Amino acid sequence: GKKIAVLAVQGAFIEHERALAKLGCECIELRQGPDVEQPYDALVLPGGESTAQAKMLRELGMLDTLKSRVAAGLPVLGTCAGLILLAQNVEEGVPAAGDPNGPVAAGATAPGAIGTLPVTVRRNAYGRQLGSFRTIAPCAGLPGVPDGETADIPMTFIRAPFIKEAHESAKVLAHVDDRIVAVRSGNQLGVSFHPELDEDLRIHELLVSLI
Ligand code: GLN
Repeated sequence: GKKIAVLAVQGAFIEHERALAKLGCECIELRQGPDVEQPYDALVLPGGESTAQAKMLRELGMLDTLKSRVAAGLPVLGTCAGLILLAQNVEEGVPAAGDPNGPVAAGATAPGAIGTLPVTVRRNAYGRQLGSFRTIAPCAGLPGVPDGETADIPMTFIRAPFIKEAHESAKVLAHVDDRIVAVRSGNQLGVSFHPELDEDLRIHELLVSLI
């Protein structure tokens, strides 16, 4: 079976392990600095709190190895906070004064902790009221879906970022309400939503197919 490393310092990692086990993968958890040095075929960066995750990656000394392996082509799936870690540019989402449910503006911009995926994402981009929602939307590039076609998949958003711009080689796989929510660049997959919280396994299958 394929060996998948799941970042397990914070956030929704158990659910990814369950999804990957259903696909016959062996999961190893990255908890301590030295864990990242072992061999694995792919990497999952789960949802959670990207600021906390980035701090722990730094403190545990995991960043250099993760960056260089991803840059060298290690297949990676970043979901929600994990997408924020992967993004080259991260904008803080700033709710409009007096209108917490209104459009979220761009605040300070900085590179994501890993910073290898050529996109600009905006954190907490859906405002408070719309912070969490579920939908079904068409997604391109899934295993078994021919080029130029899409398949509908469930998408669960929890205080999610959206992808404001896909740069260079990043291909847009899915939109929700005109906002980009899934991209692929080489072996890097970034999604705004939480595929591990739905029964549909096709995003995880796509990751495994890149190995
Ligand atoms: N709001 C979180 C962040 O900015 C991401 C939320 C999530 O991963 N569900 O890090």
